[in-house]
Amino acid sequence: ATPVGLLAGSGRGSQLGILIRGAQVLEDTRAVDTIVLDKTGTVTSGRLALDAVDTFGASDLDLVRLAAAVEAGSEHPLAKAIVAAEAARVASGIGGTRGTHDGGGQPAVVGFQSAAGGGVEGTVVEVSGESREVLVGRTDWIVPRLAEDGMPDAAQLAMFAERESGGATAVWVAVDRRVAGMLSLRDTVKPGSAEGIARLKALGLRPVLLTGDNAAVAARVAAEVGIAAQDVHAGVRPEGKVAVVKRLQAGGARVAMAGDGVNDAPALAQADLGIAMGSGTDVAREAAELTVMGDDLRQVATAIELSRRTLSIIK
Ligand code: ADP
Ligand code: MG
Repeated sequence: ATPVGLLAGSGRGSQLGILIRGAQVLEDTRAVDTIVLDKTGTVTSGRLALDAVDTFGASDLDLVRLAAAVEAGSEHPLAKAIVAAEAARVASGIGGTRGTHDGGGQPAVVGFQSAAGGGVEGTVVEVSGESREVLVGRTDWIVPRLAEDGMPDAAQLAMFAERESGGATAVWVAVDRRVAGMLSLRDTVKPGSAEGIARLKALGLRPVLLTGDNAAVAARVAAEVGIAAQDVHAGVRPEGKVAVVKRLQAGGARVAMAGDGVNDAPALAQADLGIAMGSGTDVAREAAELTVMGDDLRQVATAIELSRRTLSIIK
């Protein structure tokens, strides 16, 4: 959607790449006292790197290749990272398209499905015609979809927990309803996040971190950017993001929320002031009252500073 107005006043808003919808936004920027920040893509770059591949048993399945085939249908940052890792491997000629079963060529995927905050599934059909059902996702999403004898065992669960406590986001890969391995991915905090959050705090806003990712990753990111441990909400399902905003509001907080993902849209709409990061999804921008064109929390602080100042000038 096209925002209905550029920031009023000096015109500096448009110069700075800040778009607002309606004058009420100016009031809202003054009222808010809490800012909920989506982690992936808002506080962190959202450009993850594949850090480790753990393959179980004597299987020679090409875990990354199969996972990437299915993830090609997803827009999630994890999906993009897995697809990019496979593309880099193919380009470098290591393993590459020399699949273990097919003898080469790009597999097709049929029956692709994506579950927000859960994972992806699809049947990977090789050039040879051989097909395998592939699932990639988090523990509580994947386990109910596995065969009874395909569940991760205690050692595999411990390995998964170890990858996570090391600060990675781990996802399971299952083939034909049996867990076949795990991929661990790593994100980095954006350069401007710590400064942006310090400025938001100086404006009287309490920062809260909200993520579907695991608690260890969330805690590491929070510590790095100056968010208090008690203000971290990890492992939150997409529908739970709205609930967190509602709970804060029920406790008396006036809530701003900054996010970029499709999953963030309902929470952006629920917040007293929804802020979309410009590099994010259209869905997020449509749900937000305020959009910063750049990709940086320092711009969110600037937007709030400028809106409050503009309101003082108008009044
Ligand atoms: P975030 O708040 O970090 O954007 P999401 O709600 O999008 O998190 O996802 C939460 C978790 O769900 C991820 O950490 C991952 O375990 C799983 N997940 C979501 N989408 C995918 C996907 N495309 N592939 C694999 N796992 C996924
Ligand atoms: Mg996100």
